[in-house]
Amino acid sequence: MRLLVLSLLLLSLPLNAALPLTEAQRDYLRSNPEVNVCVDPDWQPFEIIDARGEHQGIAADLLRLVAERAGLRLRILPTVDWEASLAASQAGRCQLLSFLNQTAERDAWLLFTEPLFNDVNVLISREEYPPVRDLAALVGARVALPSGTSIEERLRRQYPGLQIVHTQNEAQALSLVNQREAELTMRSLTVAAYTIKQEGWFNLKIAGQVEGFDNLFRIGVLHSEPLLRDLLNLAIASLTPAEVNAIVNRHVPIRIESPTNYRLAAQVALVFALVLLSNLFWIRRLRRLNRRLQHKSSTDVLTGLANRSELNRRSQICFEQAQRHGRPLALIMLDLDHFKQVNDQLGHLVGDRVLRELAALLQGCVRLGDCLGRWGGEEFLLVCPETSGAQAQQLAERIVAQVRHHGFSSGRQHCLSAGVAECVAGESLDSLLQRADEALYQAKSSGRDRVCYLSAGAASPMAQQPG
Ligand code: GH3
Ligand code: MG
Ligand code: MG
Repeated sequence: MRLLVLSLLLLSLPLNAALPLTEAQRDYLRSNPEVNVCVDPDWQPFEIIDARGEHQGIAADLLRLVAERAGLRLRILPTVDWEASLAASQAGRCQLLSFLNQTAERDAWLLFTEPLFNDVNVLISREEYPPVRDLAALVGARVALPSGTSIEERLRRQYPGLQIVHTQNEAQALSLVNQREAELTMRSLTVAAYTIKQEGWFNLKIAGQVEGFDNLFRIGVLHSEPLLRDLLNLAIASLTPAEVNAIVNRHVPIRIESPTNYRLAAQVALVFALVLLSNLFWIRRLRRLNRRLQHKSSTDVLTGLANRSELNRRSQICFEQAQRHGRPLALIMLDLDHFKQVNDQLGHLVGDRVLRELAALLQGCVRLGDCLGRWGGEEFLLVCPETSGAQAQQLAERIVAQVRHHGFSSGRQHCLSAGVAECVAGESLDSLLQRADEALYQAKSSGRDRVCYLSAGAASPMAQQPG
């Protein structure tokens, strides 16, 4: 509980409570809670005063974070350009200059904080310009630079042979190089990358880098405000590299290509592999399901034999082949005798068992290539390709005899009647089926437990008595 109260207390304190402030610094904050800041109104992506008069950019965000840590409020004093901001600062109208390099000239009226942001300066030229190794050798070369910058001050001093061409802003300096009105400009890498991308000047390149010309951007503080400079330094020291990087990336997103691409490629490959695997899995599963569906739709549930629709399909195939090639084909229609009594006397469950046992027995009698199925109820059909009527009759006799002598689990003897018919050229499957059915009817009516063969056009059946 005490810990919770302590945490709440800490959270409710201003952020600068975390900074180790002296009594003098606390007094300063109490009497100067707000400071005036002059900025460069047109220096993207570092800073800009936007259309709504708001200070935006990398410098603006860094400055805001530092001020918040220090417990200061910032008031931006808008000016027309950077030179006007420098003049306002020199006149003491703003205590702070937002984001600038330290130079001897500026030391005359400013104190500087520690750097908030480091950025290398590079020489930019057109694509065809040779690489620059020694600036001192480029006597008379035109270098475009915005007025009042620290780079101008240092280049003039160190390389007096260069011809400085003044521009109003960063973009114009790059534009003059682009239009061949200057050979070079020297810019911060961040600004150059931002402007080239923004303007689409991809015919510009980095021609070289000059030692000791890195930008160490700091906050400029009036000589009269050393306490303010120390306060800001405490806040700057509290910035983490991650916080600074997050701010820079918000304004100039820099992509590190190769590692990201490898990762991306690996991720894409992984996604593809997963999609492929899941597709294969589903294809296999669907195939399995389809096979099961096909089996179910063609199988009789009780006996496991082909059902009526499968019998229709297979008998049609056998019939067409026999007709086309002039080969023999016979049908045997089988029907249990007095089966109703079995159900009535022993019950349906026993009846079912008898049907299953009979199906297994019939299955054992048929040859490879024959097609056996349940025609319906207690009737079965056997389609026998490459079989004459006489051969089918023999087979039917064997079946009827086997059933007659089989020991069923019902404890009773069961017997079958069979009707046999042979296909003749030119007749239809329906007529062949009808003849087999007629033969069966005749077997029934002539006493059951027997086979009746009805040849096409035969006037009388040739029923066999049980043996
Ligand atoms: P028949 O010798 O003239 O063929 O006499 P039957 O009693 O076998 O013929 P009927 O057509 O009068 O009766 C057929 C019986 O078959 C009636 C029905 O209860 C029985 N049956 C049909 N399908 C099934 C089934 O799936 N399970 C059971 N337990 N009985 C069935
Ligand atoms: Mg029957
Ligand atoms: Mg029947």
